[in-house]
Amino acid sequence: MIYFDNAATTKLDNEAFEAMKPYLMNDFGNASQPYSFSRKPKKALKEAREQIARCINANPDEIYFTSCGTESDNWAIKGYCTARGFENSTIITSSIEHHAILNCCSAVEKLGAKIIYLPVNKSGIVERNVLKKTICDGSLVSIMYVNNEIGSIQNIKELAKIAHDYNCLFHTDAVQAVGHLPIDVKEMNIDMLSASAHKFNGPKGIGFLYVKNGVNIPSYIDGGSQEKGKRAGTENVASVVGMATALRNNCVQLEDNIEKIRYLDSLLVNTLKKMKLNFIRNGAPDGIPGNISLSFYEKDGEQILHLLDLKGYCVSTGSACDGTKNQVSHVIKAIKVNRKYAKGTIRVSLSKDNTEKEIIQFCNDLNDLLNQL
Ligand code: PLP
Repeated sequence: MIYFDNAATTKLDNEAFEAMKPYLMNDFGNASQPYSFSRKPKKALKEAREQIARCINANPDEIYFTSCGTESDNWAIKGYCTARGFENSTIITSSIEHHAILNCCSAVEKLGAKIIYLPVNKSGIVERNVLKKTICDGSLVSIMYVNNEIGSIQNIKELAKIAHDYNCLFHTDAVQAVGHLPIDVKEMNIDMLSASAHKFNGPKGIGFLYVKNGVNIPSYIDGGSQEKGKRAGTENVASVVGMATALRNNCVQLEDNIEKIRYLDSLLVNTLKKMKLNFIRNGAPDGIPGNISLSFYEKDGEQILHLLDLKGYCVSTGSACDGTKNQVSHVIKAIKVNRKYAKGTIRVSLSKDNTEKEIIQFCNDLNDLLNQL
């Protein structure tokens, strides 16, 4: 099996797995208990929070552990609406967000919130003037950092500045960016940021929401006093430790990983070009390396995916959460990919663990397969 679906999920980092084990076995104590047996898990939780905060230049008390990126997104959107009152809430988001944002926006719209969806240009970028024209005082601007289907990277610092010029809050769904791109929440002036461990070689079922001190959003899950009383539920110490270890390792190797993946990315695209296949690469030329959205002329992406599966490759047609719907995705529609190409779209997403040999083998198999179709 050759794994080319790293935007859907990533392999658990070995060190992260080792770091998790004690908290699943011997040191299983409830981190909220006062006795000495709970000291170790409590300390691990504190250190993990500090570690994660360091990776994005936040303060440790600005990191709230959640169960996943989807929960973090829901908390940011619903928290803003609950604090302001749904009827008084306006959310300005983009047309290419993940469904964790889009479906959450639909839900709060039914409760009275106003939602504005910003168009993107052909490269999948929200242009500053488009936001400037639409923005109104007191809104929540929620724009994803890196798009999961085409890898386009938004100018978060610039968009956050515009939001603040209009007394708005700025949230970013950074699920595809954390652990893959340098992030400094202070320098970028981000108010809230969502992340998910399984996208950066951490375990599944754990994520975090960064909430800048001073930004007041209400609790998301009511119950005990965990996470400063804002997100109740016994802490998932092992997963939190795994998340922090994986993030630390990814951040330490960030530049090397980017460079390696950028090389593999251009090797793949250039090899396909040399094969004279009729395709386009979607997204911006300066998108995140390794998120490769390819649209093949008059082909069917779903069919390509299944034929590649038979040859042992994991790729996807778009978002993993959309994997069962055989239709052109909202992202491909939003960037207006030509109809003759749109249906033939697949996403190949690479990781630092992929090799040149895998890329060449893949290109040869894909070439054979497309010529047979
Ligand atoms: N946001 C983006 C951009 C994503 O790519 C994903 C997952 O694919 C999510 C949110 C949801 O994250 P999770 O799977 O942790 O709920």
